[in-house]
Amino acid sequence: MKKIKIIDHQNTKIIATLGPASSSSEVLLDLVKEGVNVFRLNFSHGSHSMHAQTVDRIMALKKEYGLTVAILADLQGPKLRVGKIENDSLQINQGDVLTFVNEPCIGTKEKIYMSYKDFAMDVNKGEQVLIDDGKLVLEVLETDKIGKVKLIVLFGGTLSSNKGVNLPDTKISLPSLTEKDLKDLDFILTLPVNWIALSFVRKAQDIKELKRKIAKAEHPAKVIAKVEKPEAVARIKEIIKATDAVMVARGDLGVEVPMEKLPAIQKQIIKRCIQRAKPVIVATQMMESMVTNPSPTRAEITDVANAVLDGADAVMLSGETSVGKHPIKVVQAMNKIIEEAEQHYEMHSKRPKPNPDSSTFYSDTICLNAPKLADEIGAKAISGLTVSGYTAFKMSSYRPKCKIFIFSDQEHILSTLNLVWGVKCYPYNKFTTTDETIHDISQILKENGDVYSGDVIVNTGAMPIKKRFRTNMMKITVVD
Ligand code: PGA
Ligand code: MN
Repeated sequence: MKKIKIIDHQNTKIIATLGPASSSSEVLLDLVKEGVNVFRLNFSHGSHSMHAQTVDRIMALKKEYGLTVAILADLQGPKLRVGKIENDSLQINQGDVLTFVNEPCIGTKEKIYMSYKDFAMDVNKGEQVLIDDGKLVLEVLETDKIGKVKLIVLFGGTLSSNKGVNLPDTKISLPSLTEKDLKDLDFILTLPVNWIALSFVRKAQDIKELKRKIAKAEHPAKVIAKVEKPEAVARIKEIIKATDAVMVARGDLGVEVPMEKLPAIQKQIIKRCIQRAKPVIVATQMMESMVTNPSPTRAEITDVANAVLDGADAVMLSGETSVGKHPIKVVQAMNKIIEEAEQHYEMHSKRPKPNPDSSTFYSDTICLNAPKLADEIGAKAISGLTVSGYTAFKMSSYRPKCKIFIFSDQEHILSTLNLVWGVKCYPYNKFTTTDETIHDISQILKENGDVYSGDVIVNTGAMPIKKRFRTNMMKITVVD
């Protein structure tokens, strides 16, 4: 296996969306070197064969360099769009009256196709229709409740083909997994992805349904709920409970809720997720200006730093790495911001307490006390062994001052955990005696420059080691 130097000292993880600017093997490898922890495949764009090719390249790099970079497949969900527009450009002005129909056609001033069969059924007079990230604002004048809706333009501009549509006032009756999603999912479940994200989640049931389909295929992928609808914000508690991780998807969320509410929603969701030990991602427009510019704006620098200070597990890049001019530079810049902001991060939310009624109470207690002890004695590392990843999610949620090193013989888990705050993973498959494993762990961490002679490690594990019980042991080790 070839060795490469990877920047991995930061606790907050970086997700990079892949696209034409970043799917060559060279760029993929550079992105990992500069600190990308998770690659995101966006199923709103690109063909299956393109995604398959990208996954092949990632897997080849993982093998060649022993990387644990994770793969996240992002399902489009019930995203609404207008159809093709004549000459790809239609000027619409305040006061214009437009007609949206549910039969495909080339869009003109007379009629425009809307990719949502029951649009006329679901909308009501007076509801807002936002197009292209809210750049164009329309209001429903009348609907025949069958297929035709008349709208008045409140704020005009240029409408081009396939632009996204948001209906913040409307109860949308589309299923959470559309026909396209089901086809994409069938394909995704043939790939070695670690995370599957669902867009426009509205309720816990949406996540449960996706999880059932993944389980049926016996695929190990975990699930991310993208919060980008007011309904999801209102039901955030049940959604956090049902999902494995959450994304604050500010692109659509910022259009669907009054924009000024976004910062507080971000903070509240992050806090709740940390308390429930569910990883949380802050996404969209973090370094947007770097799609074209070689350096970020002051506002973007502050936005990334604030996400770190809020305690997010990961920050995400979209267009910046998929189609941007500077995919490597943007990751380098993001890394610098993260590294500095982390110097000032303090866990301010109340630390979650283990529940005595839970079947995992004893191991939860160790997962709480290992980080506490590590902070108290100034340990350089916490170590854990896991099959399911449970220990890692739990320990990370206490946000200790030192890194959490997770050892597992489950290859996919090593990558899955790459999304999680402060966690770094190593493969390990020798489960003979606890003494031997603790010794091996010190050796591995020393060889990789994670700890040095004289450093203290708080080890956790399960004794007897052969039985593969839940975590039931905690020990202090001084590195030889
Ligand atoms: P998207 O999701 O990029 O798939 O739209 C993220 C967001 O809406 O912020
Ligand atoms: Mn979105």
